[in-house]
Amino acid sequence: MPGLEDLYREIILDHYRSPRNRGELPAPPAHRVEGFNPLCGDEVILSMLVEDGAVTDLKIAGQGCSISQSSASMMTAAVKGKSVDEARKLIRQFKGMMSIHEASLDAGDGAVDGGADGAGDGSAAGEAAALTDPEQLGELAALQGVVKFPVRIKCATLSWNTLAQGLDELQQLTSSSAPPA
Ligand code: ZN
Repeated sequence: MPGLEDLYREIILDHYRSPRNRGELPAPPAHRVEGFNPLCGDEVILSMLVEDGAVTDLKIAGQGCSISQSSASMMTAAVKGKSVDEARKLIRQFKGMMSIHEASLDAGDGAVDGGADGAGDGSAAGEAAALTDPEQLGELAALQGVVKFPVRIKCATLSWNTLAQGLDELQQLTSSSAPPA
């Protein structure tokens, strides 16, 4: 599909040059989580405010490659204002998109990469594809091209893993009854 890759590249560059929700929220009341990708040296510092089961605000700081920083920007734009459940669903969808393409890489263009573990169960990949419709992801789909470069997948998923960690930590905090601010 000619043109699509250019469009995707534009979206990624746009988020890299003009990152959304850049900065840090005062913590507390915000919850602060840091993520680091030693493969590339990317770091993200995520501060998020979760109230009444929704991510009412979040900001991202840190530094790293264009993929990690644009993915972080897109993540904040996609998640801000969403319920925690919706945010978790987006995390699953995004990571699903990344792993589907990882699988289709192995199946695709008969690459000779020492495939001793060529378990290639296409059925499982098909199932995952059915669960994750890239169109639902909006501009996040722009990052699917990253999977052609497996070493960059961790750049793209860094901010999402950091978000997941933050949501898990908050869940533990609230279940142990933190007093309302
Ligand atoms: Zn990176």
